Parts: sequence; structure tokens; C-alpha cells
Amino acid sequence: MSKVHNFSAGPCILPEEVLKEASEAVKSWDNHGLSLIEMSHRSKPFVAVMDEVRSLTKELLNLPDRFEILYLQGGASLGFLTTAYNLIPEGGYAAYADTGTWANKAIKEAKHLGNIEVVASTKESDYTGVPSIGQIDPKHSFLHFTSNNTIYGTQYKELPSDVGVPLVADMSSDIMSREFDASQYKLIYAGAQKNMGPAGTVMYAIDKDAIGKTGRDIPSYLDLGIHLSKDSMFNTPPVFSVFTTMLTMRWLKNIGGVAAIEKINDEKAALLYSEIDRNSLFAGHADLDSRSNMNITFRLNNDELSERFDEVWAKEGISGIKGHRSVGGYRASMYNAMPKDSVQVLVDVMKEFERTNG
Ligand SMILES: *Cc1c(COP(=O)(O)O)cnc(C)c1O
Repeated sequence: MSKVHNFSAGPCILPEEVLKEASEAVKSWDNHGLSLIEMSHRSKPFVAVMDEVRSLTKELLNLPDRFEILYLQGGASLGFLTTAYNLIPEGGYAAYADTGTWANKAIKEAKHLGNIEVVASTKESDYTGVPSIGQIDPKHSFLHFTSNNTIYGTQYKELPSDVGVPLVADMSSDIMSREFDASQYKLIYAGAQKNMGPAGTVMYAIDKDAIGKTGRDIPSYLDLGIHLSKDSMFNTPPVFSVFTTMLTMRWLKNIGGVAAIEKINDEKAALLYSEIDRNSLFAGHADLDSRSNMNITFRLNNDELSERFDEVWAKEGISGIKGHRSVGGYRASMYNAMPKDSVQVLVDVMKEFERTNG
């Protein structure tokens, strides 16, 4: 089979060596004589996997000591609700930034539990950028924002900070893609399948001092305090996803960690954005100051060329660049494991397309 260049927005591309090791473990894991996925999650080897993924996460994200890591089920979508349950007191308030589809889903879930105020929004401009955030009324328990908007291809290039209340972020689609300072955060969560591993698990990095302060009676699975007290093993964890996420983190650490991948991510994004800006047939979707390094959205200036363009990139083995149905055009998702060579293939296709159709 010829190589496929996987630009899928999620589940994401993973490093080849990780896929190889994960698939071997599914057949027979090390010298245990069993498949990874048919072995007790309480067994010593799997408990060691859970311990390692939790400590690697903390290390790679450079989190302060007060943070603990959980790997649970339910995806970031359940995270929207879990966040509100654990951090908004009974009758309390929380501030949310509205930057598009996922932010709105977070707002919708939080409204089940608290008084939610949308303090900044780019809805009026069709979410082509992210709003800056001023001082927040201290009655709010936190400010929630989405660091990278997977669908629109926008990203906080400078993360909100010093807004007067603690920060909470859905970092599903840019976690571990760049360094950041976690000192003002209470909670960070991210579905694994965008930049950390396969689908099936969601990571919570939670300030343990922030837990148990709401006065709420929280259903067990949604109570992060319960998960913390059980070291992320309150119930059967998604063993394959957790294991493969651990392998991806080992890979990331080996290549130099988040600082090293950030540099590569910057180079990949610059390569594609400069072609979008140079090429007379294409235009970028996001505002210049909000362009995502992870999901790059663009369109053809002339829609009539789309059928021909789709044929050309498909022929070169490019996969997954059709835009989300709500935005249209194209979206090239270039997560950590995407090689720069694949980005170059797309750029070359665009150049050649301009030469033959411009
Ligand atoms: C994909 C995505 C989600 C939803 O994640 P699930 O794990 O599928 O629930 C939430 N937020 C962002 C930013 C996403 O990209």
C-alpha cells in the first residue's frame, strides 16, 4: 500500500512506532502471555501503565505539584458536564468564552448546573477569530475557554491570563502541541483522540485543592474526587486507549518533549499558511492573529474548481482534508505525529494545481 497522508481532525494520526507497539501488545503484551486488552486492569503491569501515563502527562505539561492527572471515559463531551459539577458551587457562577461549536457545547452543559455568563464571543464574525478577554467579575468560579477551535481552525495564540479568576480550559485539540504556563489553572481537560492517542479516554489535569468545594451531591462517575481517591481506577479504565496514549507520550518525551514538538508544529503550520497566502487559488479562513497551528482551514476562491482539486489531492494519497460541514472548504489537521513531509506533499499539490488551473 502506498503511503496515506492522514490530515484527519480526529481520531488523529499517531506515530508509526506507537501503532506498531500498540498492535503487538494487542496480540501479546510483552512476556505476559496475554493480550493487553484481555488482562486485568488491576494487574501489576497495567497499574504501572496507568502510573506512567499519569506521571508522563504531568511532566510533559510541566504542571505544578498541586495537579493530579486522571484518564477517564466519556470524552471531552462528558468533560463539559464534569467540569461544571466539580467546580461550580450550588447556586454559583461561571464565565465562558464562546469561540465556536465546542465552546457552545460546554456552555450548554454547564447551564444545567450554574449561572453561566458568556463574557466574550466571536459569534458575530462567524468565529473566524477568538475574542480577547478582559477582567472577569470575581463572583465567577472560573473562566472556561477552548484553547483551539478544531472546526474553525482558530487558536488562542496567547492564552488568556490574569483575568481575575482561575482558568479552566478544554485543550482537546492542542494539548501537548506547545508549552504554556499552568500556574493560573484549576482544570485542563482534553479528549485523547486529537493529539495524544486513540479515542476512548479523556485526560483531566485537576488542581486537587479545587475538588470537593461545591457543596453538591455529585453522581459517582462525575465526581473527580472519587476518581482521584482511586488513582484513576474507580472503574475499568479504557485500557487500550490509556496504554496507547502512554506510548505516544513516551514517543513525545523521546523526541524532546513539548518544546521540541512546538518548534516542529510552528514550522509545519508556517509551511502550509505561506502557501495558502501565496497561492492565488486559495484563501485562509481564520483571522491572521487567530490561526491555528493544529487545524488549518482554507478554501478555493472559485468553488467550481473543487471537484478537480479533490481528485488531485486524493490521487497523491492525501486523506481527511475536507472541511467540517459547518465551515466548508478544507481543513488540514496537522497534529504532533504528522510528518513535515506530508505537509510538503499537500503544499506541492496546491502549487501544481495553481500551475495547471491558475
Ligand atoms: C473533539 C473535541 C471535543 C469533543 O471530544 P469528544 O472526546 O469526542 O467528546 C471537545 N472539544 C474540542 C475542542 C474538540 O476538538
